[in-house]
Amino acid sequence: MDLTMDLTIEFEPIYYEPTLNEDGFYMDCLDLYKDYHTLENGVICTCGTKKEHVIMKNLTSFRQHIKSKSHQKWIIEKNCNLPNYYQECLNLKEQNNALHEHNQHLLYLLQQKDYQIQYLENMNSTYIHS
Ligand SMILES: [Zn+2]
Repeated sequence: MDLTMDLTIEFEPIYYEPTLNEDGFYMDCLDLYKDYHTLENGVICTCGTKKEHVIMKNLTSFRQHIKSKSHQKWIIEKNCNLPNYYQECLNLKEQNNALHEHNQHLLYLLQQKDYQIQYLENMNSTYIHS
């Protein structure tokens, strides 16, 4: 009886994800993917349609792929769809200024209300005592 077992474990290919650089833009970086075992199991890039997804099993095909027009276009589109944090900051600042103005106006109205109450109370006491 043969007791040896086949312990070969099949790994699923992993999905490639471009890296965000220090300016917050996507760029291709193969560092995380280029070790032998990762490539042996295959790396899939999700650019293009699902049909076009290719499992890359060596560094040469990987390098060729990221230079392809469709992949480059995908990176550009990814970067175009990034949230615009600068614009969001400007919007928040505007909202903050508007809130501050509303707040100032509210404080002014509260002060006016106090003056009016004070005035009416004075009138009232003048009327009663006269
Ligand atoms: Zn790609």
